[in-house]
Amino acid sequence: MPRPILATVHPEALRHNLQRARDCAPDARVWAVVKANAYGHGIERCFDALRSADGFALLDLAEAERLRALDWRGPVLLLEGVFEPRDLELCSRLHLWHTVHCTEQIDWLAAHKTQVPHRVFLKLNSGMNRLGFKPAAFRAAWARLNALPQVDEISLMTHFSDADGARGIAHQLAAFEAATADLPGERSLCNSAAILRHAAVALKSRSGEAATEVLASDWVRSGIATYGGAPDHPNRTAADWNLQPAMTLSSRLIGVQELETGDTVGYGSAFTADRPMRVGVVACGYADGYPRHAPTGTPILVDGVRTRVVGRVSMDMITVDLSPLDEAGHACGVGEEVVLWGRSESGAVLPVDEVAHAAGTISYELLCAVAQRVPFAAGEG
Ligand SMILES: *Cc1c(COP(=O)(O)O)cnc(C)c1O
Repeated sequence: MPRPILATVHPEALRHNLQRARDCAPDARVWAVVKANAYGHGIERCFDALRSADGFALLDLAEAERLRALDWRGPVLLLEGVFEPRDLELCSRLHLWHTVHCTEQIDWLAAHKTQVPHRVFLKLNSGMNRLGFKPAAFRAAWARLNALPQVDEISLMTHFSDADGARGIAHQLAAFEAATADLPGERSLCNSAAILRHAAVALKSRSGEAATEVLASDWVRSGIATYGGAPDHPNRTAADWNLQPAMTLSSRLIGVQELETGDTVGYGSAFTADRPMRVGVVACGYADGYPRHAPTGTPILVDGVRTRVVGRVSMDMITVDLSPLDEAGHACGVGEEVVLWGRSESGAVLPVDEVAHAAGTISYELLCAVAQRVPFAAGEG
């Protein structure tokens, strides 16, 4: 028998979550963001469930090729655009739409020989200060692109730094509006947090009288929400947003230890039993992508019952407190199902956000970090 760890992708959850993005931004077309191998879920594994998306957004050219190999004929957007001039040949050949965020990318386009002009997304740096043209340089970049025979339609995009938090999006929206007001073209603004938290408000303001916040996002970009993570955890949970986990990371107990008061567990003796108790040993460690920084107390499900990790996460194993099961008379031993995050066979759910939060990180990182050695299975639906 192989080692019992397994990652299961749930197509019905992907479908549901994508629909949630549509419900929140009903007038917009939806990019399913599948960068980083679909946030660790596997592009090929997710493709069928996400094919009702209006397009796929990613940033690795090899991943764009994989989508075309799946016979996806619809839009594919490179979120960081091309990295060197010859990437434009692939854009021409595979009809990839690409972001233009710096003058070098315009220079490369101007020198590119193509029969078919490219659809580009011109990116404004509206305050994030990562990629994009500053507002003062935006119009000139647009005019230059617009004059190029290599360029067909120009769309306008920006990215929010605080859509999930207190600062919000108003300051960036104002910058975007000011820089783009009289430019034609479709707009692409929202990531998951903006879709869930701001799109409805924005729709209202768009139809309202003198709207100061105009969020006419023709294309929204749904990343983490597609996979069932709450972009603003712990302020709001996946359940609050009606999102379902698209991945379950599960394993089994491969050992059980009975501890006396004062016994310690694992490397560094990081956990000491304050009473007699049983701990279960789970076939999952940091070499599987489970966060080594998950402290004692990190939630975990054993046979659908919520308990906690105790002691240090090691390379191939973690140890869990079996007291909640023992106290409830819930028999469990070697072979018992353990859910690191996702959905147990009993239907109990442990959101990946909670595990990430306990480990001082975010769901994005855990989902993307599931290790190569973990086998994947496709769930039902
Ligand atoms: C990754 C990414 C997204 C998706 O972000 P989520 O928070 O996962 O929804 C949207 N836009 C751009 C430019 C991105 O790079």
